Amino acid sequence: MKVYYGEFNISTSKRIEVLDITNSVEEVVVNSNIMNGLCIVTVPHATAAVIVNEYESRLVEDYVQLITQIFKPDFNWKHNIIDDNAHAHLASAIIGSSRTIPVRNGRLVRGTWQNIMLLELDGPRRRRVVVEVLGE
Ligand code: ZN
Repeated sequence: MKVYYGEFNISTSKRIEVLDITNSVEEVVVNSNIMNGLCIVTVPHATAAVIVNEYESRLVEDYVQLITQIFKPDFNWKHNIIDDNAHAHLASAIIGSSRTIPVRNGRLVRGTWQNIMLLELDGPRRRRVVVEVLGE
């Protein structure tokens, strides 16, 4: 089995933001020359997350709205006493900072309406995205 490690950086511009990273992840998969296996996409951050779903402009607004409603940035979270970003930690913890996607014939196995997105939860910041491809 081969293991290929790749990473890229992305700058976010809002406090809560959704960024499509599908093309950059697929570029790493192509560069890996691995035809069949798994692709793990991780953000090594405690206040960001990775999701797989449709990247459509109104739905993107809905993701932001949902995150705001569930994780309530203005709520009196205890962590906000030392660092004003409890909502971002909680959302990252619950949504998850990593996703695994199968690789077949050198391509990610994903549906037409499944893009890979970085969720910025405490931006703007510069974020690292780690892509590890395992297989043959
Ligand atoms: Zn914090």
